[in-house]
Amino acid sequence: MNQPRSKAELFGAMGLGPVWELKNTTTTPAQAALNQAPSLSELRQTVSVCRACSLCESRTQTVFSDGVEHAPLMVVGEAPGEDEDAKGLPFVGRAGALLDKMLHAVGVSRQENVYIANVLKCRPPANRNPEAAEIRQCSPYLFQQIAANQPKMLLLVGRFAIQTLLNTDKPVGELRGKLHHVTVDGLNIPAVVTYHPAYLLRRPGEKAKAWDDLLLLKTAYSGMPTGRSSPIRASTS
Ligand code: URA
Repeated sequence: MNQPRSKAELFGAMGLGPVWELKNTTTTPAQAALNQAPSLSELRQTVSVCRACSLCESRTQTVFSDGVEHAPLMVVGEAPGEDEDAKGLPFVGRAGALLDKMLHAVGVSRQENVYIANVLKCRPPANRNPEAAEIRQCSPYLFQQIAANQPKMLLLVGRFAIQTLLNTDKPVGELRGKLHHVTVDGLNIPAVVTYHPAYLLRRPGEKAKAWDDLLLLKTAYSGMPTGRSSPIRASTS
């Protein structure tokens, strides 16, 4: 499946694939936000009061982002879990601790050089998978976050982030190991995909593949003609 090339195609594409089961016929609040190109702080405010889907009923609070705004690397995950819902920050539970370790291994930290967000901004009850309608309602916020941040590179962790941003229904195992591109609002951003840290906690035998993916990230970033030094420093291992 091709990637979306424009906002119109993006929203058109949202009727396709397993995470896009529901046809999109009306303008959601998130799409309205996208059309107006708000700043990150305006977007955070919009998200904080969003009631576009039923997840607003059970959330403690929305989870917008963590890390450095406009950082060269942006990590995209799935949805807040219990810890994230309690703290209002993405990836602060066990999976987050592993994500931090993975990022540190290639010289990246949320204090310095990465911006982190999720496809969904509210916790699905009992940590169930995001539903297609929830992704359709919420993902325009993510596209706007990407457009506003203008990252040089994306790291997509787990199937929901990968399938949403690459507009595909292929499994992670088939997509990892090569460089992809995500087109958002005229930006064509290189993207590396890997397994979700929660999956790696359940299947530690797959960590070697994730390490290969991080090396791909590092190599791809250092090969980019940005004129900037890489935020992804050489690791010691
Ligand atoms: N898993 C995610 O995908 N995101 C979080 O913020 C936490 C766990």
